[in-house]
Amino acid sequence: MSGLLVMKFGGTSVGSAERIRIAARLVALEAANRPVLTVVSAMSKITDLLLDTMKHAEAGDGAGVQRNIAELEHRHTSACLELLPPGAQPAALEGIHALIGEFQRIVVGMKMLGDRPARSVDEAVSIGERLSALLMAAFLASEGVASQAINAADVIVTDAVFGNASPLMDLTAARCAQILQPLLRSGMLPVVTGFNGASVDGRPTTLGRGGSDFSASILAAALDASELWIWTDVDGIMTADPRLVPEARVLDELSFSEAAELAYNGAKVLHPRTLAPLIEKGIPVWSKNSFAPEKPGTRIVPHIANALGARAVTSMANVALVAVEPASPALSGVRVMARTLDALAGANVEVLALSASSYRQSFCFLVRTGELAATVAAIESALALELAHGYLHPLEIDEEVGLLAVVGEGMRGTPGLAGRIFTAISRERVNIIAIAQGSSELTIAVVVRRQGLEAAVRAVHQECAMAG
Ligand code: ADP
Ligand code: ASP
Ligand code: MG
Repeated sequence: MSGLLVMKFGGTSVGSAERIRIAARLVALEAANRPVLTVVSAMSKITDLLLDTMKHAEAGDGAGVQRNIAELEHRHTSACLELLPPGAQPAALEGIHALIGEFQRIVVGMKMLGDRPARSVDEAVSIGERLSALLMAAFLASEGVASQAINAADVIVTDAVFGNASPLMDLTAARCAQILQPLLRSGMLPVVTGFNGASVDGRPTTLGRGGSDFSASILAAALDASELWIWTDVDGIMTADPRLVPEARVLDELSFSEAAELAYNGAKVLHPRTLAPLIEKGIPVWSKNSFAPEKPGTRIVPHIANALGARAVTSMANVALVAVEPASPALSGVRVMARTLDALAGANVEVLALSASSYRQSFCFLVRTGELAATVAAIESALALELAHGYLHPLEIDEEVGLLAVVGEGMRGTPGLAGRIFTAISRERVNIIAIAQGSSELTIAVVVRRQGLEAAVRAVHQECAMAG
């Protein structure tokens, strides 16, 4: 749709009545000139609260469930009363109670079962986004901007991988054409829930934590939008996480590849899969601060003109290193690696970095701590015989590690950069455990001792003069 702007607001940007009001005004400002589609996250901390409630339910802790539901009610009803004029309140409150009632029914089921089936979790957790979409649409309407809350389960079609679903783009585009385009053409402003979707047969799914960025990019691509603006709580994409490196600086411009590498290597400011749907269509993205909307933010574009050296450093703390080593020369290391990777793919585990030694036929790889149990189970099942008969050493798992990644288009043209990065890390007396340079030469990834991760990030940031 020509001229369409997709705007996504993260949890802090819709975290209170005041923040919703500001977000809605940013939307209305743009909607005066062009079609706008809004995507919202749940209010800040609500997704954690919903997930925690389900844990209490599974454990049979009724009091914990009630406490959390009371908090859920309070956050949304108080925001509603503060946000909306009296005339608009009854309908919105009714909507809020209906959604919380829906959540409560699912949670009661979990308590009775003593279980949290993944598909019910997805259905229940997406209620956070449905609540914030309801509030945002009701406020826009009360300000005279025709608006409608839309549940993304009706427009984003995904596979059935609950908790980490992937979009089926053709089906999604067809739903968008059928449901969203007529609304946009009629001048109605859709407020779509981030984070969720539904499988082809209508079962609710979610796109992984932080997935609202991904929802926005899926919708931008499906609707052929002209731009995507991602509103968050920092001034844009920075040379490092400002919580870790206070002197981190905002980057004016980044390439799609650089932004994707940063996101995949832990820069929380963008969900890792955000850029993929946009690359083919070359839809530009802005990362902007809803707390300082006058600032330009970061523009993410297909290519940047003069890329120089390392541009940003990022890190991941919740990772584990798994080492696999044949104990017998009769076992081919390559074959073991192939079977391991195949088993991981089957279990939907993402390998973050991999390093191999041809002499020892051994290899090690990095996974998210949250995926470690699935990793071990998959390998132990795929290589059960080899492990049982001692052809393979028992898996070695090291959870005291962290990943640091330096990203920049211009790194391939900067000789000696890798050496300087390793020296800067060693100077901090942080042990380097493994190194992986992607074939793109866009990223140098280093696995270090967990304890030294933050110091290493700061040292690399300084060594590469990222603060400018
Ligand atoms: P939202 O709720 O808006 O999606 P997130 O909390 O998911 O916001 O992401 C924004 C946060 O990402 C920032 O507050 C910041 O601490 C963190 N962050 C990590 N790395 C970076 C980076 N390189 N640039 C900017 N922010 C970063
Ligand atoms: N609310 C979801 C989460 O906290 C999605 C998002 O914020 O992007 O993970
Ligand atoms: Mg986020």
